[in-house]
Amino acid sequence: MRYYQIALRQVQDTYTWASESALNVGDLVEVPFRNKPKIGVVVLEVDEPEFKTALVTQTFETKFIDRLYINLALYLSQTHFTALSKVLTLMIPEAFWTKAKPIKHITQFKLDEELTLEFLKHPTQKGYFEYLNSKKGLIWEDQVPDEFKNTHKTFLKKTFLKAIKSSIKTEHSLNLAPAKSDQNFELTPAQASALKNITNNSKGKLLWGVTGSGKTEVYKHFFKTLQTKDSEAQFLFLLPEIALTPQLIKAFQNMFPGEVAVWHSNLTANEKVQVWARVKNGDIKVLIGTRSAALVPMPNLAAIVMDEEHEWTFKNEFNPRFWTHELVEFLAKEKNIPYVYGSATPKLRTYHLVQTGELDLVELPDRVHQTALPNIEIVDLKQEAKRGNFAPVSKRLEEAIRHAFENKKQVVLFLNKRGFSGSAMCRFCGDAFGCDNCDMSLKLHRSGNRSMLICHVCGAMKNFPKCCPACKKEEFNYRGWGTQQLESQLKELFPETKLFRADRDSITGRYDFENLLSEFKNTPQSILLGTQMIAKGLDFSDVALVGIVMADVGLHLPDHHAEERVYQLLEQVSGRAGRRHTQGQILVQTYQDELPLFTYLRAHDTKGFMQQKYNEHEKLKLPPFSQISKIIMVDPSKASAFALCKSLHANLVAALKEQNLNDNIEATWAPAFFPKLHNKYWFYVFLKSDDAKALNKFMQSFDWPKGIKIDVSPVSLI
Ligand code: ADP
Ligand code: ZN
Repeated sequence: MRYYQIALRQVQDTYTWASESALNVGDLVEVPFRNKPKIGVVVLEVDEPEFKTALVTQTFETKFIDRLYINLALYLSQTHFTALSKVLTLMIPEAFWTKAKPIKHITQFKLDEELTLEFLKHPTQKGYFEYLNSKKGLIWEDQVPDEFKNTHKTFLKKTFLKAIKSSIKTEHSLNLAPAKSDQNFELTPAQASALKNITNNSKGKLLWGVTGSGKTEVYKHFFKTLQTKDSEAQFLFLLPEIALTPQLIKAFQNMFPGEVAVWHSNLTANEKVQVWARVKNGDIKVLIGTRSAALVPMPNLAAIVMDEEHEWTFKNEFNPRFWTHELVEFLAKEKNIPYVYGSATPKLRTYHLVQTGELDLVELPDRVHQTALPNIEIVDLKQEAKRGNFAPVSKRLEEAIRHAFENKKQVVLFLNKRGFSGSAMCRFCGDAFGCDNCDMSLKLHRSGNRSMLICHVCGAMKNFPKCCPACKKEEFNYRGWGTQQLESQLKELFPETKLFRADRDSITGRYDFENLLSEFKNTPQSILLGTQMIAKGLDFSDVALVGIVMADVGLHLPDHHAEERVYQLLEQVSGRAGRRHTQGQILVQTYQDELPLFTYLRAHDTKGFMQQKYNEHEKLKLPPFSQISKIIMVDPSKASAFALCKSLHANLVAALKEQNLNDNIEATWAPAFFPKLHNKYWFYVFLKSDDAKALNKFMQSFDWPKGIKIDVSPVSLI
């Protein structure tokens, strides 16, 4: 008898079952659990336990999950304090946990090569023979024409046809059709040399290329080069957000027709099962997806690319709270395969990995079309306010837009705030409209004649009152602008111009954004305005001007990554201008034009900016020169959250002292920067150390209380 730990869905702990025959790690099996049959995955072979164990009732599929991915799940479970079954639930679509064969398989048959026409007597048999020959002797079972259905059965009986392959029956196209519009380019010398440096050895790479330097082509050729060496090879392409990258997906489909699938959290349950199974059986060679795609088991994984690797969406904000980089590095190391991080503005951690020699640096310093990098001009909004203009579009920006239109060009305006304005307060008593559930001001939204107040955290909505609830006066002050206000000012300034607004209020349907972009592309002298959505990846040849309406959004937060993120965002947005033929113009409006950030930005000196931040973090012993873990306490009762926070902090301090680690690891606590969100109170305990290993070891050994969340390397500390 042998014994195995088996993980079940929605069952926190893994338990042990016995089996008479040997099983493998990764097998999909059925076991009795609380008197009901349940499907589970074998995760570990163990010694005979002292307690009585039930028997595994059947094996559905051996090595259903590759051992590598079981190891990945174990690793994530351990390093991020998350139940293994929870990690496996992320890895395996739900349908497989409830039905052993949730997808229909179909078989492909091949005609016996020795069979000749003369050998067959019956005319329909001759007919089917000729039909099959016209298909190179190959046929899928669901493609047999009706008139040959009976003959097909006869052929099988007589073994004229042999089953050669089984695959998943697809019910829809999964976007597998190759795109027609995009071509595959011949690489420029700079791209070719970058490709050579990337394929040169199997070490990890940072592909540091300015926006518009043609990184996508390099990635495609990188995969293609490896594919010519191994036709079974599979590739993982990770990106921060799928909805915004139709052009990129098309580019891949063009080079790998019929072999590309897309993975993201908005796929339907059925789509997930289909894509997942086709990746597993090797039909899909290139999987393009967001962070969860890194958890899709790829049996022949041969290389990984993570584009825009600096984006925060690569952080999983639920348990296990991993950075996708950890998954990439784990898989690459275990499989000994190459990986590439791509960015115009890498993360400090990635920069650090280059400095320490962990990653090789490959650069693409110039744009493909040899156009100069855009000219960046800073507009001081303090001066604009002195002149009495409090509207989002400054005089200078208005002038620049007119200039672009004179040259028959298009304009992109970026404002990372949706709604009409930020907070609203009574002009007389100063009463501000706050959310009842959150420590957050409500934002004014307007559509037509309707005014609403909306909380951007919890979505709570109120009608905008006629008068101040406190003093009954009817005049209000508004702070900050949103995209709706920008749109309404633009309508007044440019009544003839077609405006395309992209934010979470205007883009709701699955294809809205794609449609809006293609309409914008086909409308000369128009303006695209929007939030975060329009910052990345978009490539329009006619955009000559990009206006950043308010660069200060996010800068005021007391977080040591705030400036880095703002810089990354601005650099991304500026990358949307002048990508072909002409040099683009960027106007950055800000109230803080004196910040060094803007000096670096204007000079396109990303390296200078990074180095300055890097030195600052080194001096202050901030990550990546230390590790800061955040333990989160959330409770509807402020007193309970606070009590848990204080007692946990005290216990941690005591444990550190006991283990003589108090010089090495520092424990502090604080309420969150926004202490109340979603009707709950948030408190944090921080553990900081410049010895990440020691911190990890301590955290593994500590007996954590129930009801907390552990974020080992949080996006932000606030
Ligand atoms: P990045 O991702 O580095 O910002 P892209 O991959 O979007 O840059 O490429 C910028 C533009 O240059 C795109 O329009 C792309 O189609 C085009 N391009 C890329 N490589 C070539 C090439 N070798 N020849 C011609 N055009 C290219
Ligand atoms: Zn709220």
